[in-house]
Amino acid sequence: MSDAETLFERIIAGEIPSDVVYEDDTTFAFRDIRPQARVHVLVVPRKRYRNVAELAAADPQLLADVLKTARKVAELEGITESGYRVVFNTDADAGQTVFHVHAHVLGGEQLGLFGR
Ligand code: 5GP
Repeated sequence: MSDAETLFERIIAGEIPSDVVYEDDTTFAFRDIRPQARVHVLVVPRKRYRNVAELAAADPQLLADVLKTARKVAELEGITESGYRVVFNTDADAGQTVFHVHAHVLGGEQLGLFGR
């Protein structure tokens, strides 16, 4: 992995402004700049891994922290009862554009199906 800072490290550091929803010692959650649903929040671990596969292999506890924060975001956004989706885009065919693993938390409305 390159040592160059990713966009999300600069967001976590506050160098690039973001609309923060929740943060704790290991994770950081902020609104997506181009929301694909009424609620669209990104959850990232403070420590960078390229994608969810690398995170799962290297630090399963930190992956659990990311998922707990996704649940917390759903609570804060009031979508726990109505339902929501958690997505990890992983590499090229999934359209991953920022190579600092992040969970998309999507909800607040009826979501479309997956696919093309
Ligand atoms: P990916 O395609 O890698 O799964 O998701 C990257 C996400 O980051 C996209 O949904 C995109 O809209 C979001 N994004 C890109 N640049 C920024 C930014 O500067 N600020 C915020 N809040 N989100 C961003």
